Amino acid sequence: MNRVNVKCEDLQLSYGNVVVLDGVTLDIAPGEFFALLGPSGSGKSTLLRVIAGFLQHQKGRLLIDGRELRDEPAWARRVGMVFQNYALWPHLSVRENVAFGLVERRLSRKEIDARVSEVLEQVELGGLAHRSPHQLSGGQQQRVALARTLVTQPQVLLLDEPLSNLDRSLRIQMRQELLKLQRRLGITTIFVTHDQSEAMTSADRIAVLDKGVVQQIGTPIALYDYPATPFVARFVGTMN
Ligand code: ADP
Ligand code: MG
Repeated sequence: MNRVNVKCEDLQLSYGNVVVLDGVTLDIAPGEFFALLGPSGSGKSTLLRVIAGFLQHQKGRLLIDGRELRDEPAWARRVGMVFQNYALWPHLSVRENVAFGLVERRLSRKEIDARVSEVLEQVELGGLAHRSPHQLSGGQQQRVALARTLVTQPQVLLLDEPLSNLDRSLRIQMRQELLKLQRRLGITTIFVTHDQSEAMTSADRIAVLDKGVVQQIGTPIALYDYPATPFVARFVGTMN
């Protein structure tokens, strides 16, 4: 795995005169598990979509390993995103759903099969490859969605509230599994959540976002012990 660095420099994005991202600067280390934490409407999903290349920012620069988005035609291939609403195809098996991630790649049948098998093992779904999504638990479905993204072999993994559809005990279990997998793969990961305890217990570092502005970036301990603003103190202090 080629571990890459992700940089956002003074990113700005507005809808009309509503500023959604206001000068966001981040420097995410190769292999880091980085959380974007903030309340609903703070701009987390927008920022993730900009990093994915789905949304165009109006000012600032975005770089992977020093190469800027607009100079990098292969950007979409280097970045993989798992959406909050990970709709799986109900009429396709687990294996076919995962292979769907490769539909636009020009690969041989043999290579597709090999990659799908490998990634199903990584997420521990090898034994369920021929099941339908409706025969799986919520956590297993979530792992299929993750596998569908991982099979494209992205260098940056973007997760938009991937656990929020799960009930609380499953969420905690999946959080640990996700972290274990991320450590094993060593893939630079940006994880969006509005859940303080989720970010505090898993991330290497956290950026706290409010109204499109990064309030503070730091390790969970640093944020907890030395909040830079009253907002961070309040938000990080109220664990649920
Ligand atoms: P979060 O993921 O943190 O909940 P979002 O990035 O979804 O926040 O949204 C940030 C802000 O941008 C919100 O105020 C939202 O209403 C606004 N917004 C998001 N998408 C659009 C859009 N397509 N047009 C106008 N405003 C938008
Ligand atoms: Mg969101």
